Amino acid sequence: MKWQGGRRGGNIEDRRGMSPGAAVGGGGIGIIILALIGYFVFGMEPQQIAEMASSQQGTATQQAGVEGTPADEAGQFVDVIGANINDVWQGSLQGYTPPRVVLYEQGTGTGCGFGQSAMGPFYCPADQTVYLDLSFWQDMETQLGASGAEFARAYVIAHEFGHHVQTLTGASQQVRQAQQQARSQEEANQYSIALELQADCYAGFWAANAARASGGAVALEPGDLEEGLKTANAIGDDMIQKRMQGRVTPENFTHGTAEQRMTWLRRGYDSGDPNTCNTFN
Ligand SMILES: [Zn+2]
Repeated sequence: MKWQGGRRGGNIEDRRGMSPGAAVGGGGIGIIILALIGYFVFGMEPQQIAEMASSQQGTATQQAGVEGTPADEAGQFVDVIGANINDVWQGSLQGYTPPRVVLYEQGTGTGCGFGQSAMGPFYCPADQTVYLDLSFWQDMETQLGASGAEFARAYVIAHEFGHHVQTLTGASQQVRQAQQQARSQEEANQYSIALELQADCYAGFWAANAARASGGAVALEPGDLEEGLKTANAIGDDMIQKRMQGRVTPENFTHGTAEQRMTWLRRGYDSGDPNTCNTFN
């Protein structure tokens, strides 16, 4: 993927290496597995994050991070990709405002309570912020067989920005209401899946428009889309469950199957139009 010459947004708050402001337990493999389960299987974002996180320790002592463009390559990557995603949405969605982006390690205070790496990358609607622990890229690759390609990582970032868009459009709030009236957990999960697949489709929409919005400075290269699809496949509920519990229980799906995730990422990419991302029909 081409991105080095892309516009720096300078909108990152870098909390890496800072005190998380509350105790973070565990470590090693336990944390990694928890992270994968938290992010993919339980589908804690965005609405469940709030409930889950508020049951954790307090957040009052969180230090502010360093604002701007991080000096390291991984941080710069997030900054450039984030700026490009904002440029694409600003040209398509009236009233779009960028989310905040926080990089952290292990744990950090958030508007949704205490956030931990165990939750994976997540978006908190209460403070309209995307939280990323960059060690997750590695876990995703080694634990799940996701692609290590830059575009595959950018797809995950664009997916989280997609949840921000859903907060701006009101889709997230509508889903939360519908879930409260759902008669079963399985029915409530159907709404989560629709929201997640829409975020995948929005990621495809971004990818289709990245080059146009950056004058070619941020652009997919041959083979990149396939790497993104490889990750979409690897993080499908059925694939994760097979890996984590050795069997597939569709009633617990919250993000969609591998097939569905690939289909919607591809649909957004092929159409280049967010209006084709109606996963609720
Ligand atoms: Zn999601």
